[in-house]
Amino acid sequence: MEKIVSLCKRRGFIFPDSEIYGGLANAWDYGPYGAELKNNIKRRWWKKFVQDREDMVGLDAAIIMNPETWKASGHLSEFSDPLVECLKCKKRYRADELEAETCPACGGKLTNPKKFNLMFKTFIGPAEDSANVAYLRPETAQGIFVNFKNIMDTMRPKLPFGIGQIGKAFRNEITPGNFIFRTREFEQMEIEYFMAPPEKDKDWQAVFEDWREQMLDWMKKLGLDVKRNIHELEVSEKERAHYSKKTIDFEYEFPFGKEELYGLAYRTDYDLSQHAKFSGADLSYTAEDGKKIIPHVIEPSLGVERTVLAVLCESYGEENLTQPSPSQGEGKIETRVVMKFPFWLAPVKIAVFPLLKNKPALVKKAKAVFAKLKVDYACEFDDNGNIGKRYRRQDEIGTPFCVTIDFDSQELDDVTVRDRDSMKQVRVKIGELKEYFEKKFK
Ligand code: ATP
Repeated sequence: MEKIVSLCKRRGFIFPDSEIYGGLANAWDYGPYGAELKNNIKRRWWKKFVQDREDMVGLDAAIIMNPETWKASGHLSEFSDPLVECLKCKKRYRADELEAETCPACGGKLTNPKKFNLMFKTFIGPAEDSANVAYLRPETAQGIFVNFKNIMDTMRPKLPFGIGQIGKAFRNEITPGNFIFRTREFEQMEIEYFMAPPEKDKDWQAVFEDWREQMLDWMKKLGLDVKRNIHELEVSEKERAHYSKKTIDFEYEFPFGKEELYGLAYRTDYDLSQHAKFSGADLSYTAEDGKKIIPHVIEPSLGVERTVLAVLCESYGEENLTQPSPSQGEGKIETRVVMKFPFWLAPVKIAVFPLLKNKPALVKKAKAVFAKLKVDYACEFDDNGNIGKRYRRQDEIGTPFCVTIDFDSQELDDVTVRDRDSMKQVRVKIGELKEYFEKKFK
């Protein structure tokens, strides 16, 4: 983890939040490459699960909702963790995460657990009184349920259909940490998939299984070694929400242990029924035979930052180079750090270099190649330092290809293309570059 955190800082993926003020514990800012990586994940998720499917629509609901929402959903009364405090050193813990009965830090006596609600409270308008209390949403899902009627009225979808949403969520976690794994502000990509009330168990089980496979397919697309690094944990009846009939956690082998990456839950008709009851709105669906039904729902829930972390862990590699680079001196073996992102995830797809920055003819030609390639790909132009250093930097940010314009390029009108994974170099005519990369990125 230390290596990953340090690479993220050094190479512009992830910075400690408000660092010039000493930072804010467990809060992180995404730098140029982190922002690209996150956007690539969100865009692809949206395409796969919303745009490419005929049974899905998208939504972008507000973060601050009418507080009645949280009464209906059960978050006001139930969304809490058991908090214990050490009487001696005042450290706080989640009781359900503690194995010992005394403080792990100082051995002091602990208080009895008390319920601590995880929702962030705020006030709407100038008066900070109880009439104006509001909450930052702890999940995006409820924004979907409260818009069920609007979607029905405007889009007229037929069951089964789903609504997908990407957005920020906030939880006042007692034990945030492990870099970006658990933070108080994070982003979710959630789907509520509505279906007719199942007559038999196997009706909902088939839909659940289909979503399970879709999620596994997504994890494969991220380049995760699903067989080795993903474990499915069926949450026991005692631990899952009372309204859920089945919940699976997809756990990933993070460097700090096996922890939840995503969740998949069958939530029955609990949410729509609760909102119908609390709001008085008619949240039913009229079936073909004219009968009014309350749809049941399957919920695939994915965290953006946990996706980023899993991808960073999976892609990180160190390789001993057998060919020592001239700059290192004879016989010295260099270690190369390389992020082997799947191409679609890489923040930069192609880096373009003139061999030397003080040769105007080379720079001019390199700029022309850069201008041509950046129409179709996220490209970066770099003329700083020696070529070896430039390659090393691009390897560390996971750029699949580097294109170098050298002295021969002047005469032959070609470039050297260097492959991130094999480190092999080939010469390609400038006129053929477009086609060359089309094949590579297909
Ligand atoms: P955990 O048990 O780790 O607290 P959870 O079961 O409460 O997670 P859900 O409520 O199922 O999490 O949230 C759905 C998804 O949102 C999680 O699978 C995870 O990817 C993401 N997520 C939840 N809480 C956080 C957090 N504090 N920081 C980052 N991502 C989170």
